[in-house]
Amino acid sequence: MAMKRKLDQNDVPTSVAETDKQSEAAEASFSDLGLDPRLVQAVADQSFQKPTLVQRKAIPLALNGQDVLCKAKTGSGKTAAYVLPILSGILKRKATDSAACTSALILVPTRELADQVFKAIERFAAFCAKDVRAVKLTDKLSDAVQRSLLSTSPDVVISTPARAWHNVNDNSSALSLSKLSYLVLDEADLLLSYGYDQDLEHLSFSVPKGVQTIMMSATLTEEVDKLKGLFYRNQNPTLLDLEEPEGEGEGVTQLYTKCAEDEKFLLAYIIFKLQLIKGKCIIFVADIDRCYRLKLFFEQFGIRSCILNSELPVNSRIHVVEEFNRNVYDIIIASDENEVLGNEEQAQEEDEAEAGDEEEGDAAEGKQSRPKKKRKMSKRDREYGVSRGIDFKNVAAVINFDLPTSASSYTHRIGRTARAGRTGMALSFVIPQDQYRKHMPTTVQTAEKDEKILARIMRQQAKKGKEIKPYNFSTKQVEAFRYRMNDALRAVTKVAIREARTRELRQELLKSEKLKRYFEENPTEMNHLRHDGELRTARQQAHLKHIPDYLLPKEGKQGLTSEDVGFVPLRKHKDGKSRRHHKKGGKGAFKSSRKGDPLKTFKARRKTK
Ligand code: AMP
Repeated sequence: MAMKRKLDQNDVPTSVAETDKQSEAAEASFSDLGLDPRLVQAVADQSFQKPTLVQRKAIPLALNGQDVLCKAKTGSGKTAAYVLPILSGILKRKATDSAACTSALILVPTRELADQVFKAIERFAAFCAKDVRAVKLTDKLSDAVQRSLLSTSPDVVISTPARAWHNVNDNSSALSLSKLSYLVLDEADLLLSYGYDQDLEHLSFSVPKGVQTIMMSATLTEEVDKLKGLFYRNQNPTLLDLEEPEGEGEGVTQLYTKCAEDEKFLLAYIIFKLQLIKGKCIIFVADIDRCYRLKLFFEQFGIRSCILNSELPVNSRIHVVEEFNRNVYDIIIASDENEVLGNEEQAQEEDEAEAGDEEEGDAAEGKQSRPKKKRKMSKRDREYGVSRGIDFKNVAAVINFDLPTSASSYTHRIGRTARAGRTGMALSFVIPQDQYRKHMPTTVQTAEKDEKILARIMRQQAKKGKEIKPYNFSTKQVEAFRYRMNDALRAVTKVAIREARTRELRQELLKSEKLKRYFEENPTEMNHLRHDGELRTARQQAHLKHIPDYLLPKEGKQGLTSEDVGFVPLRKHKDGKSRRHHKKGGKGAFKSSRKGDPLKTFKARRKTK
């Protein structure tokens, strides 16, 4: 993309590097920040005790009219950090001037995020709802509906860049930016990688001069520099490069298990059927078909799960996330297609550059082909994204059923767990090179480089002082289930998957219609619409739903936790030695982190030499 304007060399933003050490600052309360009292009341109503670091730092600056570029992740409280000062500003203006105009435009990369921000605004504006009106634009609404939503000049518009530009550029100029006071770019680093380059460039020229601009970004990448050049032009934003005490993946126990392709299913079955994970879990898989293969496989055993992918209607997706957050479902199977199809390539290059791994590929060549790849992704639902942005609550475990194809994607995925100071667990299945394509029905192309990617992930995590430890299931226990796993896998044929995919889509479209109707007026009506129903396209085998006693470890589930069982690799190497990383990582593997570890029923025995 041609970025015409860049910051000149002297245009170095002021950096406010902060840590959470200043205890007096940590004592600050929302009422000290200078916000409208109605907002402070709404915050109290949500039981927010005190502002998070990003809120403490960004809110006063934003209230002061400053442009801010803030490094902040989902989970840090970044939404409130920009929403509250903006609402406060709008309320202040409304006190003297009640004329309707769109004061704030909030740009987000995905519809799910648009929905989240919209809901956050509703909550924060609970005590001033008459004075603040927000709308969200999505391409699921017809142009006419979008125009009518915009015709009353809502105070805040939340949108993806594509929708926003569409409405600015529309013949009827449905969205007027002439009175804009605030512009927010949320998840700024994702905005460009989702292929919104042109929309953003157009918008940057349509935004009037002097608009206060706030950018929130999980990383401060080159992409963000481009956006800086576009939206801050020659001004210096205040840079908030905040050191969060609980960074992404901070409290996560990271594990990996090397296994054969079909064994992924075996291990997943054992984990869920024996309830080895306590709490909610997101399982990441490589593509949409894979979602259904795993769901149908689980179904054979009576394990309920719901699916998230770019193909499902957006209302259903939002509803799934909401209900998962309300603890209605325990398992979400999410396909991470955007990462795989789009910016993953770029992420790989970044990983490689970061690792200084020259043999990994020709970065320059990769860079040239980058835009093409992004465009390819944008044909899909580019407004979909799972591993970033969405605020999944209380996720005990993330399972990388299929390893991502870049280390940064791994970081984003594991960041879905262990939020807000909690602990969590991330378990990754890794296919060794010699096992790739050995079981064709369950093979997946991304697994070809699993070992290389794992090495890269390990390097990246090591830089953060984190270790990914090998986790080994007991061969004795696992083998007892293999026959049932094979039985269930055989029933999940390609045809069954295709049917399941079509059926789910059809059902979800119907539900989505209902959801659309009820979304605003009657939210409780939606509760009976579940998304974890059985698809029943695979041959049903009732006997698989129960675990006969003879299959259970003698000591019941505890059998797996017995110190005496010990853990050995699923497949022993021919030379009888455990795999490369086992010795190192196996030593004292869970010692310190077992407490609070969702896999706490597992106990790894120290590996002795
Ligand atoms: P965000 O980073 O904006 O996606 O917010 C992550 C989650 O933290 C949301 O569920 C918010 O409701 C919650 N949250 C935001 N600010 C606070 C706060 N000061 N205290 C407690 N929870 C908060």
